[in-house]
Amino acid sequence: MVSLRGVDKHFGELHVLRSIDLEVAPREVVVVIGPSGSGKSTLCRTINRLEPIDAGEIRVDGQLLPAEGAQLAQLRADVGMVFQSFNLFGHLSVLDNVMLAPLKVRKASKATARSEAMALLERVGIADKADRVPAQLSGGQQQRAAIARSLAMHPKLMLFDEPTSALDPEMVNEVLEVMTSLAADGMTMVVVTHEMGFARRVADRVVFMAAGQIVEVAPPAEFFDATRSERARSFLSNVL
Ligand code: ATP
Ligand code: MG
Repeated sequence: MVSLRGVDKHFGELHVLRSIDLEVAPREVVVVIGPSGSGKSTLCRTINRLEPIDAGEIRVDGQLLPAEGAQLAQLRADVGMVFQSFNLFGHLSVLDNVMLAPLKVRKASKATARSEAMALLERVGIADKADRVPAQLSGGQQQRAAIARSLAMHPKLMLFDEPTSALDPEMVNEVLEVMTSLAADGMTMVVVTHEMGFARRVADRVVFMAAGQIVEVAPPAEFFDATRSERARSFLSNVL
């Protein structure tokens, strides 16, 4: 579903992605962990083509990036992204937030967009909040609304960049539960998170990044219980 080969990225002098190779299979859940500044967000943003790369190639569903014009619009529709901040339109109801892209981009009819949006709000457990504006929701509810809004585009791949980092602790689980059920439904996912319990339970593979490189890739049981690299061991000893 996603393939990165030899991806390099600089910000000025700073070499933030160093020869990244990564394949994400359809229906696979890859959890990316690593210290602050290691390039995890940049990696997500290159997959979504929010950031250009200096060298290497990225394919999403076989399509070689960089995409342009109509191809880029298709790529953006195929790849949903959920960030730490909820990125909802504050002046629109939750329902309208979820209906917006299907109406504008997919040219869905209003009736179809509405019934699909309600089904998605049901799925993330906030159907009763459909007519509220985001400020009237808790952080966990807003993040679930943001997930529903991404899903409304029928993405082939979902990128999550620390989706629970801005939440109060008691709201983290409700968002992780939605992500767990998405994974169980077969969504292909790349998830940057510090939630090691989620990584252990839900990831098919854990990718550990440090200083712009992928240092270690392994299934979670192996990664957590038989960590190979000293760098990952030292990171884990600080977060676990
Ligand atoms: P965190 O865990 O703190 O979110 P991260 O692993 O997501 O960190 P990135 O945000 O990908 O790290 O940043 C990687 C490096 O690139 C950091 O040194 C950061 O300061 C730098 N960087 C990120 N975005 C830009 C930018 N737009 N311009 C210049 N430097 C940037
Ligand atoms: Mg980041």
